[in-house]
Amino acid sequence: MKRKIAILFVSVLLLFTACQSQESETGDNSTDEANTSTDVVTEATMAYTDDENFDVPADVVRSESTVIDDSNKTGRLITSQESYQIGTYIKISIYDDYQAPDKFFDEIFYTIDNYEKMISKNIVTSEVDKINEMAGVEPVAVSDDLWELIQYGLEYSEISGGKFDITIGPLVDLWGIGTDEAHIPTSDEIQEAMSLIDYHNVVLDETNQTVYLTHEDMKLDLGAIAKGYIADAIKAVILNRGFDAAIINLGGNVLTVGTKPNSDSWAVGVRDPNGGQSDIVGILNLKDNSIVSSGVYERFFIEDNVRYHHILNPYTGYPEQNDLAAISIISEKSVDGDGLSTSLFVMGLEDGFAYAQSRDDIEVMFITYDNKIYYTDGLEDKFILTNTLYDNVGALE
Ligand code: AMP
Ligand code: MG
Repeated sequence: MKRKIAILFVSVLLLFTACQSQESETGDNSTDEANTSTDVVTEATMAYTDDENFDVPADVVRSESTVIDDSNKTGRLITSQESYQIGTYIKISIYDDYQAPDKFFDEIFYTIDNYEKMISKNIVTSEVDKINEMAGVEPVAVSDDLWELIQYGLEYSEISGGKFDITIGPLVDLWGIGTDEAHIPTSDEIQEAMSLIDYHNVVLDETNQTVYLTHEDMKLDLGAIAKGYIADAIKAVILNRGFDAAIINLGGNVLTVGTKPNSDSWAVGVRDPNGGQSDIVGILNLKDNSIVSSGVYERFFIEDNVRYHHILNPYTGYPEQNDLAAISIISEKSVDGDGLSTSLFVMGLEDGFAYAQSRDDIEVMFITYDNKIYYTDGLEDKFILTNTLYDNVGALE
């Protein structure tokens, strides 16, 4: 088990190393002269009171702090910790004059754990599980956070005309993509699961803050927006504790906090959908932004040369097959990026691009199966192509 974890952390690190070595091309290589220091003073820029305790459960896999002296580049120390939670690899990096204390990371991982226990439909005691269990029976009172998250989910269900649908749970469970049970269901099974999907059948009672699914066997699945929502919550913890520069990475769902010290912007690698975990198509230079990607490479199985991936079309019952291999959304809030990454993926290149252009608060990048990269105008001076296998097209005409 330990060995497996070590390998997993190494692969996450490789992804970061790849991004940072690419950063050198942008004149922003923070790793070359950095050295891991063991005698760094641990001194918080914020105060934790003695009665504040964040008991991260023992089964949460997490690393110790890594401290990099980045004084040559940013004049700061970078303190990072990693964990495996919400089914994904998490890395939090804080840029500060002092090493961020362990208690701060405890607070972060504890926060993530609480959200997982609230949102996961696969945890028997979660709020979402309660709503699903009570489908067709009675409304369930929910916490403020889940209430807010469900509103976001319904907003994207509406925007996408139901191509994104938070009641997709029965279909997600049926395919089981990303689990040991992943398989191609029969068409009868698919029809049955599809008949349960309709976000209009989520009834909200504002006065009592309850959620009710009107039909038995309906199931909420908030997996398409949960990571974004949690990333925003982590950003709030970071700012609340007085830090002003950080990178939050929830399995490729990246939220940059503030501006990189002594530098204009953060350089974030955009994953190559046809490559390995550490391969990128290019770099996006971002300030205080979220970048969320969805793609066919994330969770999938292949049968008879067909790739069955985890983004499903509620109208066909199958993984969405269109021109797209991956999509990235740049937005201020990560929950918007996460909601839109899944929504616009299912909407496809043309409708997705048109929708993105209608909003001036988001930018979008689409990568097609034939290696073309399309993006909205706002990314023109922010994107640097580094992978010559790809064609840097720009806006879709
Ligand atoms: P993401 O990686 O953010 O695109 O989210 C993918 C996850 O969202 C899947 O693993 C499912 O749990 C869920 N999902 C898949 N297809 C849809 C859809 N059409 N609408 C809403 N959620 C979906
Ligand atoms: Mg998403």
